[in-house]
Amino acid sequence: MNRMQNQSNLESDYRRVVEPTGPIRYLSGTTIEILGSFPIGFVPKHALFDFDGTLSLIREGWVHVMVPMMVDILLETGTDESPDDLFWIVEKYVAELTGQQTIYQMIRLAEEVSRRGGRPADPLEYKKEYHRRLMERIRSRREDLRQGRVDPVEMLVPGSMQLLDNLRSKNVKLYLASGTDEVYVREEAELLKIDTFFGEHIYGAVDDYRSFSKAQVIQRILANQSVQARKLIGFGDGYVEIQNVKEAGGIAVGVASDEANRSGRPDPWKRERLIGIGADFIVPDFREQMQLVDFLWNDIQDDGTSTTGPLRDTTGTARETGEQEID
Ligand SMILES: [Mg+2]
Repeated sequence: MNRMQNQSNLESDYRRVVEPTGPIRYLSGTTIEILGSFPIGFVPKHALFDFDGTLSLIREGWVHVMVPMMVDILLETGTDESPDDLFWIVEKYVAELTGQQTIYQMIRLAEEVSRRGGRPADPLEYKKEYHRRLMERIRSRREDLRQGRVDPVEMLVPGSMQLLDNLRSKNVKLYLASGTDEVYVREEAELLKIDTFFGEHIYGAVDDYRSFSKAQVIQRILANQSVQARKLIGFGDGYVEIQNVKEAGGIAVGVASDEANRSGRPDPWKRERLIGIGADFIVPDFREQMQLVDFLWNDIQDDGTSTTGPLRDTTGTARETGEQEID
């Protein structure tokens, strides 16, 4: 792989490109929020999914492993900051980098160690240690799934299986691309019994982080299949996949999943960030996948508007001006 390709695989930091304006618009009778405009004659043929937080809940709570680990490592530099101070500092940058591959958070940790006069380890070593600790937390979940003690449905974002099924029945090609290491993504997709939807198209991070990116997966989908970008739809709870899909010209569904409680209400922090990066839809999960898919397949017309006027504003009442178009 040459240097140019390497550079194109680097993930950029979060940068807000959209400011929230006007009332929230929902697909009628649903909690599906509509923000985007839609390409003419849009019918998805290829769907890209993020894994953790978008479909899988196996790694829920990872942040409670990463932050304390980083605080411990920073304390070892002999800094005079208190554990509490460090906690806030770490929590802030970890959140900012959430959505990128894990290694980027570890690269930042190494920088923070240097900044405090410490000698940082290789970020890959930090990543391995983090993963070792995370495995301790999620081992029982993986075992429960493996032994059949827990139904995969309980560790999936609600409606995931139905959505995948629905898309497959419409002959949409499905791709899974994750910032988690590929070997684990494959294993966990299998434990959740969703691997068969994706076949060979399961992609994840590798030790040489420059050789993988979600943007690259999208480029390959578009190049190999001579797919028109507007036939690409992406689903994700992180900003990287939403940004990548939008930059490629596709439609992006932001999944503001409440991973810990599966409450059906959007996680406010994720929602904010996903809107800011340009998501076309926000869903709390896929319980209303049927309505979303119906809307995408049937209601968006060639002029990019909806015939059924299925939108309502935050008050839930029809607007005086009548049906609101998607423009
Ligand atoms: Mg995710």
